[in-house]
Amino acid sequence: MISVEQALEKILSNIEVLGEEQHPILDCLGQVLAEDIYADINVPPLDNSAFDGYAVRSGDISGASRQHPRFLRVIDTLYAGVIPKREVKPGTAIRIMTGAPIPEGADCIVMFEETDEAQRKGSADQQPPDEIGILREAKPGSNVRQAGESIARGSLILTRGIVIRPSEVGMLASLGRDKVKVIRRPVVAILATGDELVNIGRPLPEGKIYNSNTYSAAAQVLHYGGIPKILGIALDNDDSVVAGLKQGLDADMLITIGGVSMGDYDVVRDVLAKQGKMVFWKVRTKPGKPLAFGMLKGSSQNGVTREIPHLGLAGNPVSSMVNFELFARPAILKLMGRQNLAKPTVEAVMENRIANKDSRRVFARVIVEKRNGQYFAQLTGPQGSGILHSMTLANGLAIIPEDKTQVEEGDKLQVMMLDWSEEF
Ligand code: AMP
Ligand code: MG
Repeated sequence: MISVEQALEKILSNIEVLGEEQHPILDCLGQVLAEDIYADINVPPLDNSAFDGYAVRSGDISGASRQHPRFLRVIDTLYAGVIPKREVKPGTAIRIMTGAPIPEGADCIVMFEETDEAQRKGSADQQPPDEIGILREAKPGSNVRQAGESIARGSLILTRGIVIRPSEVGMLASLGRDKVKVIRRPVVAILATGDELVNIGRPLPEGKIYNSNTYSAAAQVLHYGGIPKILGIALDNDDSVVAGLKQGLDADMLITIGGVSMGDYDVVRDVLAKQGKMVFWKVRTKPGKPLAFGMLKGSSQNGVTREIPHLGLAGNPVSSMVNFELFARPAILKLMGRQNLAKPTVEAVMENRIANKDSRRVFARVIVEKRNGQYFAQLTGPQGSGILHSMTLANGLAIIPEDKTQVEEGDKLQVMMLDWSEEF
């Protein structure tokens, strides 16, 4: 049986990065940028004021202090977004708001706090005073934000290949870009298999169970940036599985759930063998051993038949989700052009004894907590691969190496963090 690493290597080596598309910037969160972004403007476009205050000539206020204010005549008020019309001539000042362009003649800004404006404004009206006392001298350039200090026109701001986060969305917007070229999101078709499955939203007939895996898998696809295409439920026979898969042959990746273990009705494996090529079946992992991977003949484009990567996840609800995290997630990220495919791990002190009898790599559902700067991990409870509740309790998967037959309390293990977006 192959290892987790070997399985992942085989999957990734069969997967190619998808093509590029242009999209509105807000739709591109989490996608990989497919062009270099150069600034074609300066940001800020003009020298402007960093504070509300007075634009003055530094020479006019040299030696100014609280004891010896320099008095200047106020000739105008400037707001952000307005081009100055008047020049600051010797002995004058222009009242200025944060972000407003620096008027000609002025070379520095004195904040309101360093003027006597507060004493002059006894009334509620917002009329600027005719005259202002400056209480402190200032160097040329002080409190002035230089044109292009944030972004200089012509410079390379974002490089092809980076992942778009909220800060990149903001940066693109500050350059005036409304659309950007990215690697497109993969469409991932999901087919559940099993005579026992029924759809959600209706009463449960005796002997049946709800199809939960389609939804956990579709949510995982969404979570990692893909577009799920739900193909519904196939029965445990070749014809039904083939018919189900047909609807997904235009997808970028196909996921089937169940039908890959040793049971009598395990047809997915057979269908895959007939409709494409099986790359591997079974990985030395627990849960999720019966994972299958192959390449299916997809729809034809310009006379060329595409090959679609197909992951056959194990049917047990936990196995399916763990298989997804370990193998489908990196596959989706690679399709999206992502370079770093590793999930974050932390080292945690185990708080339970766990046996590992059959030399597989165990992914135990744990609750990780931080106490005094140290991570501790506790089992969620019974670890059966059908107990989906364990995944809802867990925030991590503790990784027990193949050759570690027994985990003792106090042992340290690496824990793969599942949804690690806040402190715990
Ligand atoms: P299989 O791999 O098809 O033998 O399924 C293993 C176990 O997982 C069985 O108990 C199935 O009933 C269950 N199972 C398979 N597919 C699903 C699904 N889509 N939703 C919920 N449970 C499932
Ligand atoms: Mg089944």
